[in-house]
Amino acid sequence: MGVEIDIKPIKEWLPKLNNPLLIAGPCSLETEEQAMDTARQLAKDPRVFVYRGGVWKPRTRPGSFEGIGTVGLEWLKQVKQETGLLVGTEVANAQHTEEALKAGLDVLWIGARSTASPFVVQEIADVLKGTDAVVMVKNPVNPDTQLWMGAIERLSKVGITKLVGIHRGFTPFRETKYRNYPNWQSFIELRRLMPNLPVICDPSHIAGKREYLSEISQKAFDMGMDGLMIESHRDPSCALSDAAQQLTPADLFKLLDKLVIRNEKVDNKQFEDQLEMLRSRIDSLDTELLEILSSRMEVVRQIGQYKKDNNVTALQMSRWTELMNKRVSAGEKMNLNRTFVQILFQLIHEDSVRMQTEIMDAE
Ligand code: PEP
Ligand code: MN
Repeated sequence: MGVEIDIKPIKEWLPKLNNPLLIAGPCSLETEEQAMDTARQLAKDPRVFVYRGGVWKPRTRPGSFEGIGTVGLEWLKQVKQETGLLVGTEVANAQHTEEALKAGLDVLWIGARSTASPFVVQEIADVLKGTDAVVMVKNPVNPDTQLWMGAIERLSKVGITKLVGIHRGFTPFRETKYRNYPNWQSFIELRRLMPNLPVICDPSHIAGKREYLSEISQKAFDMGMDGLMIESHRDPSCALSDAAQQLTPADLFKLLDKLVIRNEKVDNKQFEDQLEMLRSRIDSLDTELLEILSSRMEVVRQIGQYKKDNNVTALQMSRWTELMNKRVSAGEKMNLNRTFVQILFQLIHEDSVRMQTEIMDAE
């Protein structure tokens, strides 16, 4: 079920923003020098609108650099004063939130580990009550769209209207190319359920490695996301956290130059007509797909009855494995993605077995 909450479009609270919202800055603020130097370099490009810098760092295990703490807020204030960039940091409890508000930061964000905890989100929301803060909410580490929405709703309930979602990927359950699995489906689900929520992408935490930043950023724009949060450090090789995924400001600008920013709509009659034509082809192909599935199910029904009459089980593993292998390789020859065909036939098979057992159990 969709949720209609009061969310102000970014353009209303950042009227000077002409491009997608770009937030850039180091994973962690380390020294005043590093914070200021990185900010001065980033401020040279007008596409960078907000400077990020982690001050309190949630680390997976204790012992690594846990952030510079409160003094970092002073550096952020200095960045704002000197460069004119807006500034923001992550808050993970009530005390951080109080301090960040007192320092007058422009943006606060809730990190992925915190979003996963409704207690923490509520504690932060209670401090934010009655303020006009801009709050961004990263997805929780687990791919639970309801939990992500729940955090946004908690903030909405205390009167926060300048809200943004940040897609930063999900903890993978097996070794993957990326550090965090970008389950684009979760973004689509969030957009469907909260259509008026601006959502930006954090390619840095999805990628884990610099080399993947560009493909993920482009994908975010292809999907119609509203901006990016990218980690940038004046010298990533000696960053105290997330060294492998940060870019120098100069490399960030190069990456931005290559990205194609797409519009959801264009004012072009010829384009609209062509799109309309292609969409109607899709509509009729989908009808054909459904008709084929329905005929297939009719055959499954007959098989179920036949197996029942002969007292044979619904599931025959060898047949299933053979079918799956054949379908996947046939699909590959037709340029269909292997995983897609596997998942599709898993679903079809699951429902066929369900149908057959239903027939067998019927009186
Ligand atoms: C970060 O932005 O530096 C950070 C810790 O991100 P996340 O909460 O997405 O892990
Ligand atoms: Mn980081």
